[in-house]
Amino acid sequence: MDSLERIADEVRNCAFCRLAESRIKAVPGEGPENARLFLVGEGPGSEEDRQGRPFVGRAGELLNESLEAAGLSRAELFITNVVKCRPPSNRPPLSDEAEACRPYLERQLALIRPKIICLLGNTAIECFLGEAKPGIRGKLATMGGRNLFPTIHPAAAIYNPRLREVLRAHLKRLRAELERLES
Ligand code: URA
Ligand code: SF4
Repeated sequence: MDSLERIADEVRNCAFCRLAESRIKAVPGEGPENARLFLVGEGPGSEEDRQGRPFVGRAGELLNESLEAAGLSRAELFITNVVKCRPPSNRPPLSDEAEACRPYLERQLALIRPKIICLLGNTAIECFLGEAKPGIRGKLATMGGRNLFPTIHPAAAIYNPRLREVLRAHLKRLRAELERLES
């Protein structure tokens, strides 16, 4: 039987793409198996690479603050990335790297079966929707029976107060959608 622990072990030992060569620690993702909300970022940054945990650097702090402001608790959600190993110099993952890593993401989704998958930024949006069309962020989209909620990447909002407001507003709406789907 598959399990989140088993997936995490495989990720930590994975060498399916070139990102295995430069990583310090792989970052499988974390959160409870009964999470109703599943967040997908781009890939680990330097702090994540050092700690082996997702969103623990500056972007993670901003994400935590925004989640809290929206009344969403990080402890109740699962959070991971399109690629589980850090791309050198934080470049976006290449398409063959994203493809090589996709089965881990799909297995995590198959176990958790979240109500909503929140896509943080263009890499995650392209991974699930093919392209990041203007106007799709901040609202629910359904694709292949999945509820997707594309938004901006928290790193984009670090030095941009306007985008911080956008992220907060999106996460509030996400919370409302989650409550609506559960009622
Ligand atoms: N940015 C990401 O996309 N993912 C992380 O885990 C951290 C920063
Ligand atoms: Fe394996 Fe994904 Fe890491 Fe590539 S990024 S080595 S596919 S775990």
